[in-house]
Amino acid sequence: MRFETLAVHAAAEADRLTGAVSSPIHLSTTFERAEDGSFPSGFAYIRNDNPNRRALESALAALEGGASAVAFASGMAATQAVFQALAPGDHVIIPADAYFGTSKLLHDHFVPWGLKVSVVDMRDLAAVRAALTPTTRLIWVETPSNPTISITDLRGVSSIAKEASVLMACDNTWATPFLQRPLSLGADLVVHSTTKYLSGHSDAMGGVVVIGQAGPLADKLRSIQASGGAVPSPFDCWLVLRGVRTLPWRMRAHCENALAVATFLAGRSSVERVHYPGLSGDPGHAIASGQMQAGGGMLSFVVPGGRAGAFSVANRLHVFTRATSLGGPESLIEHRTSVEGEKSRAPEGLLRVSVGLEHPDDLIADLDQALRA
Ligand SMILES: *Cc1c(COP(=O)(O)O)cnc(C)c1O
Repeated sequence: MRFETLAVHAAAEADRLTGAVSSPIHLSTTFERAEDGSFPSGFAYIRNDNPNRRALESALAALEGGASAVAFASGMAATQAVFQALAPGDHVIIPADAYFGTSKLLHDHFVPWGLKVSVVDMRDLAAVRAALTPTTRLIWVETPSNPTISITDLRGVSSIAKEASVLMACDNTWATPFLQRPLSLGADLVVHSTTKYLSGHSDAMGGVVVIGQAGPLADKLRSIQASGGAVPSPFDCWLVLRGVRTLPWRMRAHCENALAVATFLAGRSSVERVHYPGLSGDPGHAIASGQMQAGGGMLSFVVPGGRAGAFSVANRLHVFTRATSLGGPESLIEHRTSVEGEKSRAPEGLLRVSVGLEHPDDLIADLDQALRA
């Protein structure tokens, strides 16, 4: 089945009791036992499993081409579960431009717990190889990355991981399985913040780990989910799955709009730099073309005048909303160093944009007047 068909039909059987085509939201926290003490429905208690979560997990596993998926209450809870599946003393390699919350989680909580962490430029495969130690268990990859939208060669990192017999996980939040399927490029695990493009409407929080193959790691993640209880509510599962139904069509429009906006910005002399892998001059373009269907919906650009220059452009925009996050229908713009604080690696003049689903001409006209002033 092609991706669009799968997005619509994965885990979408009509409700057996009522015939409802849109699945009911099952709020029940507990499920009835049969006379012999078994659970004929397969469900026992909401933290362990429930129908909406199971449907979401099965759809996301199908879209990523994985054996199974484990849903969490947020992207960070999913990320945390992957590190919890390791053991104190294990070594992990992460990119210098990993999602800010990921490096913070590791340094604030998992380093004290006993994980060893090396931070590398993931674009530099020799640096990745050089960072391997005898205790390395996991290479964590995120591509495209934040906020300079840099591209990591997934096949390249995967061959290093395979050679060294270490796991490779890919945070695929920004690309989504419509644009990029890391399991097919050699990753063992895919992580998402479903809060972003998968739900797609800026109104639900969630995360997921998709596992390539059944085995002890899949079992461990399932056990962390049930025991730790950082699980999504049935309603949030329902909202994310509703978003998934239109994912390919939304992503097409996000990509088309982002390319139009990036092309416009690249042509403006008052813009110092544009980061967008869909532009042929971008340093990540060649690798992105080999592993992504299109450049994605995220871009960033640098204006002169540092923080003040960036603020004045952002404040003159009317169609773009000044807010963090990404993946919703509305275009968002954000001054990245304001979010990341002192440790930010972004230049002060950098603005990050989640290009939404408005008409591209309106987005470009808005940027045009903001940059002209
Ligand atoms: C938002 C985001 C996360 C964290 O997800 P939450 O749902 O906010 O916990 C992780 N990785 C990336 C790339 C993200 O954009």
